[in-house]
Amino acid sequence: MPPVSRLFDFIVIGGGSGGLACARRAASYGAKVALVEGSGRLGGTCVNVGCVPKKVMFNGGSIMEAIEDATHYGINVEVRSFDWGALKASRDAYIKRLNGIYERNVAKDNVEYVDGMASFISNTEVKVNDAVLQASHILIASGGHPIIPKVDGAEHGIDSDGFFDLEVQPKRVAVVGSGYIGVEIAGIFKTLGSEVTVFTRTEHILRHHDSIIGDTMLAEMKRLGLKFEHNSNVHGIKKHDGAEFPLELSWSTEGKEASESYDCVLWAVGRAPNTRPLNLGAVPGVKLNNTGHIIADEYQNTSVSGIYSLGDVFGKSELTPVAIAAGRRLADRLFGGEQFADSKLDYVNIPTVIFGHPTAGTIGLTEEQAKSEHGADNIKIYQTRFTNMYNSLTPYKPPTAMKLIVAGPEEKVVGLHIIGRGCDEILQGFGVAIKMGATKKDFDNCVAIHPTSAEEIVTMR
Ligand SMILES: Cc1cc2nc3c(=O)[nH]c(=O)nc-3n(C[C@H](O)[C@H](O)[C@H](O)COP(=O)(O)OP(=O)(O)OC[C@H]3O[C@@H](n4cnc5c(N)ncnc54)[C@H](O)[C@@H]3O)c2cc1C
Repeated sequence: MPPVSRLFDFIVIGGGSGGLACARRAASYGAKVALVEGSGRLGGTCVNVGCVPKKVMFNGGSIMEAIEDATHYGINVEVRSFDWGALKASRDAYIKRLNGIYERNVAKDNVEYVDGMASFISNTEVKVNDAVLQASHILIASGGHPIIPKVDGAEHGIDSDGFFDLEVQPKRVAVVGSGYIGVEIAGIFKTLGSEVTVFTRTEHILRHHDSIIGDTMLAEMKRLGLKFEHNSNVHGIKKHDGAEFPLELSWSTEGKEASESYDCVLWAVGRAPNTRPLNLGAVPGVKLNNTGHIIADEYQNTSVSGIYSLGDVFGKSELTPVAIAAGRRLADRLFGGEQFADSKLDYVNIPTVIFGHPTAGTIGLTEEQAKSEHGADNIKIYQTRFTNMYNSLTPYKPPTAMKLIVAGPEEKVVGLHIIGRGCDEILQGFGVAIKMGATKKDFDNCVAIHPTSAEEIVTMR
């Protein structure tokens, strides 16, 4: 007998940041919602293999740095040992607690959690295990996964998911890729005591960010002792069982071949959308772009009426708060009544942070983008570079660097890029001001808070 369809108002595919937020908001309006999650745990990338466990590891590295700094403040403290396994166990227990909290929240909100992978049968039907779920509204929030390059022996490396599975700290690590995930993980390894080499395809790192961030981060990572193989083209990994550093990574740089041995090679070469298990062939109107992301309009509508996409599978600003905000606005629009008929996420001026060592924050246009959008003659750059007072007593002087980009005669702020101690926490408030359309004059009118490094943002000349 064919399975009986179960009828819902809304089916959400993916119990990650976007799916959870959308499902719970829809249910708050009384919609009957099914939330389908295929990994066996709620929370998605952010909670399980992204933002959250990464920040825990980042905090560990930051404590190590603070211990080193302590000596210069007259505090006699030393690291006698570091137990990677203990940190991992505490982190895993924390994540497990979060998974439980999500399950309880979903149940409390009357969202039905369906455990299994969803695949489309038609525009209004989805199959999960042996069940068929039916709804006139279906959201695809299936997220993404790390890309493993197609080189020989690539399977001997790990990706960012594998990073969080490591039971033992590797001694010598190669991180291939220098986007924010590569930079963050390399920083964690290094501050926790591993030897790290980062492989980049150019002279630069963090290429999608303003140069003040990439250049400052690179210099500081080098000062911390990370090595860089610039302009490198990685060819593959050979495994030598039994060796202390069993993974021989080979690459070429400007025509020259090279190889080196590591006990961990981590691929951080980008992410791709999770679309394969969805059986999109059953809904041919749902279109993908050339990177495989699901195309949707500003209201998250795909080209098939009643099917929506957001978050990493949609591929615009792949960040947790973006997926959450887009999800909530979509639920508002679909189920929140007339007052939310126009609800949609504005993807302009989204602040984000790189949890490197040091941290960096960025919002709006880079200098290059501002020049091409507003014309080089129509923008003005305010910049500053200084040593945070925290480092006045340490022999090393990590820089804080800030760039404010303004456009037009009214000097509207169109970009802010900051790197240095505390920048991760500084940016959010400035994000509000920039989102409200602040000008340089508005910044100048705000009295500085002294002594902070944030005060430089309102005193630049
Ligand atoms: C290492 C790392 C660090 C990060 N750090 C940050 C950070 O500091 N700040 C930040 O804002 N963002 C960060 N991100 C990005 C952030 O995690 C993602 O942007 C966010 O999780 C995207 O949410 P989503 O809902 O689109 O997808 P996800 O959270 O990935 O959720 C998708 C869910 O769908 C499920 N799924 C997939 N296919 C199916 C199917 N067919 N049926 C059922 N379920 C399915 C998956 O199992 C998954 O649980 C980081 C990402 C990584 C990898």
